[in-house]
Amino acid sequence: MCVVTELCHHFAKRYPKKFVSIGHPISVILVLVATPFFFTLQMFYIAPKIFNDVLYKIYWVVAIFITYNILGNMIFCYLYNSSVERLPKEGKLPVPEEEHLWHYCEICQKLMPPRSWHCALCGCCILKRDHHCLFTATCVGHNNHRYFFWFTFYMTLGTCLSLVTSLVYGIMSGISIPFYDMFYLFMKDTSPTSCSYCQYIILLLNNVACAVPALMLAFQIQIVCHNATYYQIFDRTYDLGFRKNCKLIMGQRGLWTFLSPTLKSPLLHDGTQWQMRPDSKLLNAPKANVN
Ligand SMILES: [Zn+2]
Ligand SMILES: [Zn+2]
Repeated sequence: MCVVTELCHHFAKRYPKKFVSIGHPISVILVLVATPFFFTLQMFYIAPKIFNDVLYKIYWVVAIFITYNILGNMIFCYLYNSSVERLPKEGKLPVPEEEHLWHYCEICQKLMPPRSWHCALCGCCILKRDHHCLFTATCVGHNNHRYFFWFTFYMTLGTCLSLVTSLVYGIMSGISIPFYDMFYLFMKDTSPTSCSYCQYIILLLNNVACAVPALMLAFQIQIVCHNATYYQIFDRTYDLGFRKNCKLIMGQRGLWTFLSPTLKSPLLHDGTQWQMRPDSKLLNAPKANVN
């Protein structure tokens, strides 16, 4: 996994335009194909065989809610771009007392707000840049962080649920240790006894589909808890406590935004002025002339 990430970073740095033109469509199509595939598999093949009528109906509601939130948050994350260029004219210049906190971007050739930095793939500076996400085909930053968080959350929840029901179905079909049987795939002279190759491959795919968003969600929980960013995950400069951090990232409705990407939750500010912890080194640093 680390090798793949490093290779992607290397390729993205050397050929940003090529990386975007290849990486974005592949990643987006992967989500758009995998989500309906697992949904159909669950609702028409696995769930009817493991749930009774009442539980099956409840499972339909849960599955639709999760799928709606995966795709909805993915689309909103793409639509709510966090580019500095989207700021109103007056927001692009620092207020005099905060000028020392702004920095100059050599590529954009402009002063940029604190916590924003340049993305080579987007070709612009991003407000409170977290990271560039291939699966939503955009940078995750101040305006769309909420949608990205819930996208990873519902991806993890959906794939975990799918994995659990698939394992239950496997056990009910007579496989006592499903993962042990998977090793049969690599043994030439032995074939699986009670489960088809197809089921093993789907289980394997489900494992991968579960591990990737789960790993990202683990990072994102840490980021939301401490108002940090992906590349500065241990930075506590802007950590104002869990409740305030949630509102800064999710907007005024905080964690209630889990309900729907369409739920209105205005952000507390435009992403240019960031309150620091009173004991922050940056806050107490001597003011330098940015010009
Ligand atoms: Zn820039
Ligand atoms: Zn970007």
